Amino acid sequence: MSTTLFIDGEWQAASSGAEFETLDPATGRPHATVSDAGASDADAAVRAARAALESPAWAGITPAQRARILWRVGDLIDEHAEELAALETLDQGQPLGISRAVSVAGAAEHFRYYAGYVTKIYGETAPLSFPGVLQYTKREPVGVCALITPWNFPLMIAGWKIAPALACGNTIVVKPAEQTPMTTVRLMELCRQADVPTGVINLLTGGPEAGRALVEHPGVDKVSFTGSTETGRAIVRASAGNLKRVSLELGGKAPSIVLPDADLDAAVAGCLRGSLLNSGQVCAAYTRFLVHRSLADEFAERCAKAVSAMRLGAGRAPDTELGPLVTAEHRDHVDALVRSGVREGAHLLAGGGPAEELPGFFYRPTVFTGVRDDMRIAREEVFGPVLSVLPYDEEDEAVARANDTEYGLAAAVWTRDVGSAHRVAGAIRAGTVFINMPNPVDASAPWGGFKASGSGREMGRGAIDLYTEVKSVWTSLA
Ligand code: NAD
Repeated sequence: MSTTLFIDGEWQAASSGAEFETLDPATGRPHATVSDAGASDADAAVRAARAALESPAWAGITPAQRARILWRVGDLIDEHAEELAALETLDQGQPLGISRAVSVAGAAEHFRYYAGYVTKIYGETAPLSFPGVLQYTKREPVGVCALITPWNFPLMIAGWKIAPALACGNTIVVKPAEQTPMTTVRLMELCRQADVPTGVINLLTGGPEAGRALVEHPGVDKVSFTGSTETGRAIVRASAGNLKRVSLELGGKAPSIVLPDADLDAAVAGCLRGSLLNSGQVCAAYTRFLVHRSLADEFAERCAKAVSAMRLGAGRAPDTELGPLVTAEHRDHVDALVRSGVREGAHLLAGGGPAEELPGFFYRPTVFTGVRDDMRIAREEVFGPVLSVLPYDEEDEAVARANDTEYGLAAAVWTRDVGSAHRVAGAIRAGTVFINMPNPVDASAPWGGFKASGSGREMGRGAIDLYTEVKSVWTSLA
């Protein structure tokens, strides 16, 4: 299979003719050839998006018409759910059940959720202290939005950005991660089938160079980025030229605090689900298990037993519980961190290396005990199936250690006591706290990070703030 860029309603090769291959992580073999966009392609895409912004076909249609287009995209995603799920599994590696239930269903729901918003993007009036003046606000599109996505949930995260951006009347250039472009390519086709007008959506497949060209481009008004904290920092610096609006969903190192009165069965099951979804390649994955000393050994042993019994395999195999990591490079990154844990004195209770008997990029789910807060595995984002158990004695100590990180995306607390649950949830510095449950997302619930986990909130009403400018209009009534 081979695919190209989508600019101004046309599928076209990169102007340089450059291409790259995308791999099946379960076999390591290439399955598609993809155009590799450069700066001149980014320029063409931004110009097309700029021209479409004011076009009668887009700026001239009613909110009700825009809502119907978005709703139709959601329905088309559903109609092509099996095809999209298979493609996501082929390109990203995630088990088919996750592709269906999380990636495809999540993308479709986002389009329908923001289809509903289009006709409800209200302004306000304020009680001014000037006599004889009418004031009101309007929400207008920010303009041309560059949407840059990561490789862990490519289709769903594209939906998190494209749906609200279009709902608010913006035009877009989307750049999926170079490791996993394929479902975003297909999404562009479905958007066109839903009658998104020419130039409103543009696609650049390619790597960091294409992303950088967008971030630096003076014709881009806003950047919405999901990816690593390191790239997020580079984007903030590079976007300063025309002071682009920037929203960032970045890395995490989520703590999961198990209080002494927790239901241990539920905590073990929920922590495993919260840490191993998509082989741990989840920004909100629970990775630091702060477990009360009275439960820590049993918690760790139960986790080790459960992960050792998990079936690793290709995402398309029906009995697979854990798929591969996305690339060989990422598997080596996970392995390097695991090696550092061993070197720094942590005790390996389960896993601890690549699954070499399998083709592709598989890693054995790994459980460490004896982890100290200063070890790299306790501080750096692993983004793989690696669990660290850290015993604590006092609740205050657990909260302080949970907060002792540059990240603040998500956290969990496990307890049977409602007071303890909300006391700890209140003290945690993170964008989302899950009480007695794993870590799903929902189009209605705000999503984003404190500290180095990002800025801005996607989903819910927060995304409307991200994709609109507020204009205040004053009128003299004299
Ligand atoms: P990454 O930062 O390496 O790449 C993300 C995207 O940015 C890719 O499309 C890449 O090509 C592009 N890019 C790279 N350098 C760029 C630059 N200088 N300018 C512009 N674009 C550039 O991230 P990744 O490895 O693909 O994804 C994993 C990371 O994403 C993890 O840190 C994870 O926590 C984070 N993530 C966060 C969330 C969230 O909601 N907070 C969700 C998913 C993933």
